[in-house]
Amino acid sequence: MVSTKAPEDAYSAEPFVPDRGGLPALRRAAADCRGCPLHRDATQTVFGSGDAHARVMLVGEQPGDQEDRQGKPFVGPAGKLLDRALAEAGIDPADAYVTNAVKHFKFTQAEPRKRRIHKAPSLREMTACGPWLAAELAVVEPELIVVLGATAGKALLGSSFRVTQVRGTVLEEEIHGRAERLVPTVHPSAVLRSDDREAAYRGLVADLEVAARALG
Ligand code: SF4
Repeated sequence: MVSTKAPEDAYSAEPFVPDRGGLPALRRAAADCRGCPLHRDATQTVFGSGDAHARVMLVGEQPGDQEDRQGKPFVGPAGKLLDRALAEAGIDPADAYVTNAVKHFKFTQAEPRKRRIHKAPSLREMTACGPWLAAELAVVEPELIVVLGATAGKALLGSSFRVTQVRGTVLEEEIHGRAERLVPTVHPSAVLRSDDREAAYRGLVADLEVAARALG
């Protein structure tokens, strides 16, 4: 019997990414992306949001439950905490472009109508979704990328990325053919899950202050 299922290595957003039209065209096209199976269970694509000329781009993991329902990144509890930490560090959240490494919500659910539990995207799903992030970087051309957590770090810097080793430092790397400056830190949802939430929050703000100084 011949399988009609595409091999996982064939997962890619590439055929769906338009080569012109800026962020509005990218956002429209991403709404119909079928580059990997994550679109099947999620409500909608959650594309990046913010000014096309933003000086700083914040990259998280994937949309959460609230983001999936509202269609916007970082609108749930982690997003609110991030906004507070950014403002405290001296970065106006309104001046940042925010996005995720993966544009559809991945979750498990014991039964219909039960709570949807976040599930980390696989390396293949991250790689499949990479062309959207590359296209956002090419349009926005940020002066600095703030890497929020391990998934974003692996998507941008490779699978050996360890957030604990490099958080709060300014990295200089070539990404998708462009020299980029990056400041990694933890994902704000890790702060919400932390046993010592205040200390974790202070650590996030300290890392974002490094980003603020790097922006000048
Ligand atoms: S997760 Fe990314 S690659 Fe997969 S369907 Fe969604 S937008 Fe496309």
